Amino acid sequence: MKIRYFDHAATTAVREDVLKEMIPYFSVEYGNPSSIYTMGRKSRRAVEQAREKVANAINANTKEIYFTSCGSESDNLAIKGVAYANKKKGTHIITSKIEHPAVLNTCKKLEQQGFEVTYIGVDEKGKIKLNELVSAIKNSTILISIMFANNEIGTIQPIKEIGQIAKEHNIIFHTDAVQAVGNVKIDVQKMNIDLLSMSGHKFYGPKGIGALYVKKGIDFERIQDGGHQERNKRAGTENVAEIVGLGKAIEISCKQFDEYNNKLNMLRQYYIKKVQENINEIRINGDIENRLPGNCNISFKGIDGETLLLELDAIGICASTGSACTSGSSAPSHVLVELGIPQDYIQGSLRITFGQENTIEDVDFLVEKLIEIINKLRKNSQ
Ligand code: PLP
Repeated sequence: MKIRYFDHAATTAVREDVLKEMIPYFSVEYGNPSSIYTMGRKSRRAVEQAREKVANAINANTKEIYFTSCGSESDNLAIKGVAYANKKKGTHIITSKIEHPAVLNTCKKLEQQGFEVTYIGVDEKGKIKLNELVSAIKNSTILISIMFANNEIGTIQPIKEIGQIAKEHNIIFHTDAVQAVGNVKIDVQKMNIDLLSMSGHKFYGPKGIGALYVKKGIDFERIQDGGHQERNKRAGTENVAEIVGLGKAIEISCKQFDEYNNKLNMLRQYYIKKVQENINEIRINGDIENRLPGNCNISFKGIDGETLLLELDAIGICASTGSACTSGSSAPSHVLVELGIPQDYIQGSLRITFGQENTIEDVDFLVEKLIEIINKLRKNSQ
């Protein structure tokens, strides 16, 4: 059976040229980057070259990039690191209600430790309410953490404006850009970003590797104790092969940015048009204009999303009802709940996220099968 993969927000396949570049660092160039002999220095050079590629991709300086084990760790390090280092200045943090659990649960943990967190709402498109953000600011606010783009509905936030608000109030601004890197052009300087999290496996790099950008001068504490790696901010021997993979993947994604984005936009628009023409009682979730190019989240009235996913899986189609991290639970997604989607639509949402290997023929197949399955499920429930 041919597998058709439409879940690129969950993860992506490692590109062949990325893998090729990583392989020597597993068993040939396996020196520890902290070792001072030639083998160690070769690994160190590979790590530093990757750091440069990451920095170039977001217009940062190499000294502002720290490698971590994943996007979740980057979020933890950013939020806890800033909170702990700045708690004498204040203990109030602002985030949004539609963040990924990597941010929401980090904030909840900080609340248990005596920090105060305000969770601001979004409009019906999933966009942060800027007036709510401004009203939430207090003298004790030390950090604003707002995601760049949402993993479930694809809405891109007005990051530059949020960064400007933070700057005007002398508050540190972190953004979880795990879904944005590779899909949106990012310039941390122009966008007023102080800290930014990313994860290799969302842009055709390996899983289990992340990076955190921290603007020079921003005070943050390490959260993992141990050795002096990553300029004393993140202990643990560097995962050289994966760091090399992340560097290569981000370099390629920058080179192919326009071509890739145009393709994803075209596939998404084609998919939406075909669904609108052939299936009634649907809702397109998220912002139609300011959204990730490959993301399309549609709710089908009266459908159980999990049943739909299983039916699609049986014919080789991989998709999602929401975040991969929360799938397996049948409770409606916290993001869709925040958008105020009516009860009879909310359970029937399907997130399709297109990627480089998808074709028009794949979309035709997907829509043809969706029509069949949705008609069947709706008939059965009458
Ligand atoms: N933040 C967002 C917006 C995500 O979509 C994800 C993963 O899906 C993460 C953070 C966590 O990234 P990782 O899987 O690398 O820990």
